[in-house]
Amino acid sequence: MAERTRFGPAGVPPMFRLMGAKTSDVPKLLREEGLDAFEYQAVRWGPKPQMKQEEAEKLGSAARENDVRMSLHGSYYVNLSGKKEVAEASKKRLIASATAADWMGAYVMVFHTGFYGRFEKDFAFKTCLDALKEVSAEMRSLGLRVKLGPETMGRKFQVGNLDEILTICEQVEGTQLVVDWGHLHAISFGAFKKPEDFRAVAEKVEQRLGTEKLRSMHCHFSKIEFTLQGEKRHHTLDEKRYGPDFRMLAEVIVDFKMHPTMICESPILDVDARKMKETLKQVLESKQSKV
Ligand SMILES: [Zn+2]
Repeated sequence: MAERTRFGPAGVPPMFRLMGAKTSDVPKLLREEGLDAFEYQAVRWGPKPQMKQEEAEKLGSAARENDVRMSLHGSYYVNLSGKKEVAEASKKRLIASATAADWMGAYVMVFHTGFYGRFEKDFAFKTCLDALKEVSAEMRSLGLRVKLGPETMGRKFQVGNLDEILTICEQVEGTQLVVDWGHLHAISFGAFKKPEDFRAVAEKVEQRLGTEKLRSMHCHFSKIEFTLQGEKRHHTLDEKRYGPDFRMLAEVIVDFKMHPTMICESPILDVDARKMKETLKQVLESKQSKV
């Protein structure tokens, strides 16, 4: 099967909930909307999966039947750069999220690595990197197949700028690059203004991780509001006063022959995911007509 850019929501769309849909109904409803990815939100989970294995497997088989690519967003309560007890508890949470991700056949478990806290930045990052190597080794010993997906973060006090995430992907086995474009925009105080700004990220990723890792990156996208601390709030694609502009990213996706999984984090999840899909189609057609 040829790889293609996929689109889907971060979590269950509000309309599906109003319809009384069960979690295992979500893939079919997404397919009916023309979407083909779904990121399950396990963001409030503790040290154990907060979902039954049977339920997760049911979601997984519904996703396969409807050709919806699954990912899972792991617990927010993770700080791998924290004190020993905190880091140990964080590792357990990541393993719990990875276990359920495997049950549902998710290809990546997205997570936030942690906070610099009072530590010097390089030290905090090194601590995080070492902890992740242990998590990766434990996942392998447990036979978990899902990839670890460290995400580029949007706030100044969070570990996970683009360079740090690339280093994790270079040094930790079994990782999948996760780029949150809204976060990159927020942390740079709105630096993504032209297609070249997106292109520069693609070039850097390609240079460090290679062409295939670039093309198969996992992405989060929404417009974003920021303060001096970085990320403040996600916004819909139609809100003109906020960036970044998805069309510019779509140009880069076409030019670099990328096939990312695009997870939409806007407040109107599936509606904006469809808009992004439509925009990519338009950009592709306009570039093809120029050839
Ligand atoms: Zn996230």
